[in-house]
Amino acid sequence: MEGSRQRLALVTGSSRGIGKAIALRLAALGHKVVINYLSHEDEANEVVRAITDQGGKAIAVRADVTKADDVEAMFRRALELGPTVEILVNNAGIIHDSLLVRMSDDTWDQVIDINLRGSFLCTRAALRNMLRNRWGRIINVGSVVGMVGNPGQANYAASKAGLIGFTQSVSKEVASRNVTVNCIAPGYITTDIVESLPKDLKDRILGRIPLQRFGQPEEIAGLVAYLVGDEASYVTGQVWAIDGGLSIS
Ligand code: NAP
Repeated sequence: MEGSRQRLALVTGSSRGIGKAIALRLAALGHKVVINYLSHEDEANEVVRAITDQGGKAIAVRADVTKADDVEAMFRRALELGPTVEILVNNAGIIHDSLLVRMSDDTWDQVIDINLRGSFLCTRAALRNMLRNRWGRIINVGSVVGMVGNPGQANYAASKAGLIGFTQSVSKEVASRNVTVNCIAPGYITTDIVESLPKDLKDRILGRIPLQRFGQPEEIAGLVAYLVGDEASYVTGQVWAIDGGLSIS
């Protein structure tokens, strides 16, 4: 087991993909983990089993991060594992692509709600105790699309760019209480979202990535491990692109 002190972590959207890799890595560091999911209950329970099989502690909690009541209830359930959530990873997110002229109100609202409002609700719920305890780590999972834009993803780009401003503002509000807030901006990472893209589109994207491959969820989890650790105690308000060089190409 790596790491120093055992903490209680909550990772939104950790039944699959990047969130799952983050949850497993935090558990490997010795932290207790709340596995949040919306619809994939079996997958969430499998993540819990993988952690408990290794001697770790985890529970799966269904909650829609867009709903304030669900979020409050999830933070209450987290108390089964420890007195307070000390690490929050706002990872739950979706894409719903459309060119802007054809984008419906619902397509806009749904993406903004899950990616941005969900992070707001969870951060507000987590901060109360973090501020009181004078220790906390919040990591928002953004996207390079929030830094450079992408045609067909105006809703997604707006939500992820919003997360950058959110990260910077909240980090300034809470720094005096020893709570850090950072944003990780992945490029194309091999999860269900990327797997679902047509092959010709994937090939075109690969052609634009200097490192010539998609990233792995574990490569995002590695940065989370750094950001929650003691070595990152002087790091806050930053945006960390992990994208194989895509955003500078
Ligand atoms: P994914 O495999 O599609 O998983 C999405 C996760 O979010 C699932 O666990 C899902 O839960 C959960 N979720 C969705 N809506 C939710 C809601 N309303 N409340 C609670 N949980 C909800 O996605 P991913 O590729 O791992 O992406 C994770 C994050 O990384 C997202 O924020 C995404 O924007 C960001 N990102 C991904 C990439 C990439 O290339 N994959 C690139 C840049 C940024 P259920 O499965 O239980 O419904």
